[in-house]
Formats: sequence, C-alpha cells, structure tokens
Amino acid sequence: MEGQEEKLYRTFKEKFFDWFLTYDDYEDISQVMLNLLLLIKQELMVKEVSFFMFDPLKNVFFLEVTTAERERLINSTISYDVFKLENGAELPFKIRESSLGITIELLLRTTDELLGVLQVINDEKERFSEKFLLKIREDCMLLFEKMKNLSRGLSEEKKYERLHRFTAKIHASMKINDVLEEVIRTLQEIYPSFTFHLLLSHDNQNHDNLPIKMLAFEGDEENMAAMQAYVTGQIQIEEAIKPQRSIIYAPIKGVQGVYGVLEIIAPHIKMFSKNEINFISLLANTAGSALENAKLYEQSRRLIADLQLINETMHRLNTNLRFQDAIEFMVEQIQRSFGAEEVGFLLFDGQRKRVLQGSTPFFHSSESKSYIDFVVKRIQNEREIVFLGNVKIHSSSFIPAFRSLMAVPMVQSSVLKGIAIVLHREPYYFTFEMYKLLQSLIHHSTLVFTNAMLREELERLVVTDRLTNLYARHHLDEQITRSMEQDSYGSFILVDIDNFKTINDTYGHQVGDEVLIQVANIIKANIRESDIGARWGGEELAIYLPRASLTVGISVANRLVEKIRKQTNPRVTISCGVSYWKKNRTDSMIELFKRADEALYTAKKTGKNCVVVQDYHRRYKV
Ligand code: GH3
Ligand code: MG
Ligand code: MG
Repeated sequence: MEGQEEKLYRTFKEKFFDWFLTYDDYEDISQVMLNLLLLIKQELMVKEVSFFMFDPLKNVFFLEVTTAERERLINSTISYDVFKLENGAELPFKIRESSLGITIELLLRTTDELLGVLQVINDEKERFSEKFLLKIREDCMLLFEKMKNLSRGLSEEKKYERLHRFTAKIHASMKINDVLEEVIRTLQEIYPSFTFHLLLSHDNQNHDNLPIKMLAFEGDEENMAAMQAYVTGQIQIEEAIKPQRSIIYAPIKGVQGVYGVLEIIAPHIKMFSKNEINFISLLANTAGSALENAKLYEQSRRLIADLQLINETMHRLNTNLRFQDAIEFMVEQIQRSFGAEEVGFLLFDGQRKRVLQGSTPFFHSSESKSYIDFVVKRIQNEREIVFLGNVKIHSSSFIPAFRSLMAVPMVQSSVLKGIAIVLHREPYYFTFEMYKLLQSLIHHSTLVFTNAMLREELERLVVTDRLTNLYARHHLDEQITRSMEQDSYGSFILVDIDNFKTINDTYGHQVGDEVLIQVANIIKANIRESDIGARWGGEELAIYLPRASLTVGISVANRLVEKIRKQTNPRVTISCGVSYWKKNRTDSMIELFKRADEALYTAKKTGKNCVVVQDYHRRYKV
C-alpha cells in the first residue's frame, strides 16, 4: 500500500469505528448492513456497494442488500465457481469489467462457512491495490461475522422471550383451541413470511380460525415427512424444489403421545440453524404438553358429564316407571345427549324380534327393516361393535339415508335381550366417545328394563286365567269398579256354554277344555283392547265393555252367539245375559252382575243359544 492508499485505509477504519460506536439499533440486520454499505461507498468513493448472501443449495450468492437501485440488480447472482481455481484453491477476490463498470467482488468467509460476497462497482481501473483490497476484505469478514452473531443473538433473545410468554399463556388455558391458536400466533410473530399448518391425527372439534389439516395415514406420498415426524416423534426437514421452499415438520409431543405435527413452510430455501430447530422443537413440545393437559382436562370434564347423565338416567329409571315409559325416557335421553335423529329399541322374543313402543316413528315404518336386519346380523352372528359413520343401507333414493349408525346390544346374564339402535343422516355424526357413553347407558339400564319387563309379565300372569288366557275374575271386578267410578256408563255380558256337560261326557274333559279355549279366543277376537274378557268361573265367561251403551252390549253379545255357533269344533252354542249401568242411578257392581245373571237364567230357560237383556225395569230377549 502506498501513502495515499494508506491514508484512505486509515480514514476508512476510523469512520468504521466511529460508526460502530454510535450505531446501536441492531434489530433489523438488513438496515445495519445497508448503513455499512453506505459508509463503505462514501469512504472509498465508489459507485455502488452490494452484499450478496450465500445459498449453499444452489452454490450461488444472491443479492441481499445494495446501495444501488434494487431493480437494476434484482436478478443478479454470483456463482461461487468464479472464485474457484482448477486446483481447488479459492480466490479471495475477483475483478472484472462489466456494463456497470469495474466490478470488484470480495469473497467473505469464516474458516468453515461462506458468508457472502461484497461487491464494489467503480469507474476507474486499478484504483485499489491488491494489498488494500485484502485488508478491506479482512476487516469486512470480521465485522460481518460479528454482526451476524450479534443479530442472531438478539433475535434469539426475542424468540425466547416470546416463547416464555407463550408458555405462560397456554398453561393458563385449559382449552385446546386456545393452545393451538397461541402456537400459530407465536410462530407468525417470529416468522411473518412463513406459512403454518397444524396436522392433527384426529379432531372432533370445530376450530374456525386455525390452519388445521388432517394427518392422512394412508396413501399420501406427499406427506411422508409429516408422517415420519408423527411416527418417530423427531423433527423432519424437507427441501422442496418446485416451488422452492423449506419445510419443517415438528411433532406436537406430550408425555402420553404425539398429538399432531406442526408444519412450518419457509417461502424459500432456508438453512434452519441448530438454534432455530431447537427453538421450534421447544415450542412444539410446550404445545404438546399443554395440549395434553387440555385434553386430559376436557376428558375428565366429559367423564363427569357422562357420569352425571348415567346417574340421572338410572335415577329416573329406578322410580318404578312402566316399561314403555322407561323406553320413552331412554329414547328422549339419547336424542338429547347425542343429537340422534332416530332411536329404536328392539326386543328379542324367542326367535321373534319386535320394535318396542316408545321408539321413534321411523322404527315403526317398513323402511327401518333394512337397518334392523343389518344391525341384528352384525350383533347376533358376528358379535361386532356397531359404530359406523358412513353406512349405505337404504335401498331406495326416496328414503332418507342414515349414514351414521350406532348399535349396542342389551345383554342380561349373557343372553342377548335386545338392541338399541341410534341413527343420524349426517355421515360421521357420532364420536367414539358418544358410542362409549351409549354403551354405558345401555349396559346400566338393561337390568332395569328386563326387570320392568319381568314385572309386567308377572302382573299379566296374575291377572290372567291360565286355561283361557282371559283375565281372571278379580281383575274384572277391579276394572268394573274403576269404570263405575270414572265413566258414565258401561255394559256387561255374562256367557254360559250350553250343554257343556254333554261335550265333556261325549269327548272327554280334554276336548272340553279345548272348546273352552276356542270360545275364549273367539271372544278375544271380537272385543276391543279396552274391553275386559274374563273367566267368570267354570265354563262361564264374562265381558265388560266400559263406556259402551246397551245397544253396543247387545250387538256384541249377538255377534258372539253367532260366531261361536259357527266357528267352534266340536260345535257348541252359548247363552248370554246382558246388563248395563249408567251414572245418576243408584247402582252397584253386584246389582249389575245380578241383572245379567237373571237374564242368563231366562236365556237358558227359553231355549239357550240366545241373548237376553235385563234392563233396570224389564227383561227381554233380543
Ligand atoms: P247348561 O249350561 O246349558 O244348562 O248345561 P251345562 O251342561 O253347561 O250345565 P252346567 O252349566 O250346569 O254345567 C257346567 C259343566 O261344565 C260342569 C263341568 O263339568 C263343566 N266344566 C266347568 N268348568 C270346566 C272346565 O274348566 N273344563 C271342562 N272341560 N269342563 C268344565
Ligand atoms: Mg254353567
Ligand atoms: Mg253351561
């Protein structure tokens, strides 16, 4: 270096030092760089100064900061190869002539890392000596490296401060949504130009503002790295060429498992430093453990709610509900708790199956048959869990198709007693949690149901005559008493088989019994559900018709006389005595019976096979 240059260099260094002492805003590294380049431009009195950063993937330097108009240089890159000699040595700088002027390019590097290229454009040829350029290069290298570390340290500090805030915030929240939102917000603050996705393995909730994607488990070649991160629990880095970008997949990991993967996409190829990767994995792990806490909390809250539901249901069911009321209550409960559209209870009655009263209307329509058959087959033969989100059972396009189906068997003492079926049109409507809750509900209530059924069967047996299956006498008495209290009028028919002794004598008692059963069946078939057909005693039967006028009573009696004469085998006939009562008359059940008995007596005396009425005042044959 000659005197002139020596002086220039000294001033340059002085200014450098002054600038360094006064400058204190290192947050924005490009701004710092630009300031430096402007200083160099001014002190060396050159046209333009630019800094090019090294891209190790492409092996080129691309423009990072320049004192020139950016547009002019925007596409310019410098190949690393121009600094390489054939023997592998590296040139410290390169001088060439271009349309812009004399271009000096100083290669800046640390011992093991290329930093970039400082490009100086100048008008005069050979203005600087080689020694001078090497000196400047040396200084710039030291300075740039220091700057780089400084800025890295600063942003690092900022990041950890942000992470700290993030951790404090998410641990204060027990909501999964809040945790996920905070993860994304933190990343957006740190990497404003990046894109983020949360790849979750399963997700039943609606997260409106979150960039959530489902982790695809099969056949998704594109997401191999994401899957890898999910399965191994290790961070994966992927470099895509088209479009150019770097992607980090960080597993969101808790103590009990991996909940998903955080996808971080840089809009260009970026070498993530060790520090950055550590930071990202720290963030993902913090999110993982917060998510785990939130999940456990939600799980326990759900469990409590489930237990409350079961408790409340059992409480209601144990209040001696009638069987049908119990079913109705369960159907309502299931509709309300699961948002089910249709709920059906199916009962196995020996080989037969029947839909219980209280099930929703769909189950009483013929369209339900295909669903019922499908479920019964699955449960009876294959003992499968029936929890389906996308069934296609409907046979006609007119019938609304139910895509979501849950079915739970009702098992008592290892016997399959029935099945509860729950339907919704929307696919994947029910969650597995709902299925498990339904299982619990059914499991707990099956005993109550079977008990209620047994109790009602027992009651039926008690009020039923064993031979004829008609009601027993005491039940008839009770029902008449009740009717005389509640209703305004009613008719009573006393029936006696004519010459029944002869049947017994001719065919034997056995056949006599069978004829009695035939007569009872004809009576049952010819009266209403609300009428009471009973065995009065021996071969005498009685029918009480609540809220039936005398005219109705007479026509029923006449119909029975005719039907029994025609339909019995061996053929028998009957005689009937009919009486009735109405309000506002002093009357009693005993009087009602007495009048019918008197009428019957007359019927027998006047030729049998006929109907005689005993009114309040008169007696007449009809
Ligand atoms: P009628 O009523 O027309 O005067 O003549 P009857 O032969 O039916 O005479 P009665 O009513 O007095 O006799 C009833 C007979 O019915 C007596 C009894 O042997 C018979 N009997 C009563 N209960 C049963 C029963 O449960 N099974 C059978 N096989 N016979 C019965
Ligand atoms: Mg008799
Ligand atoms: Mg008789």
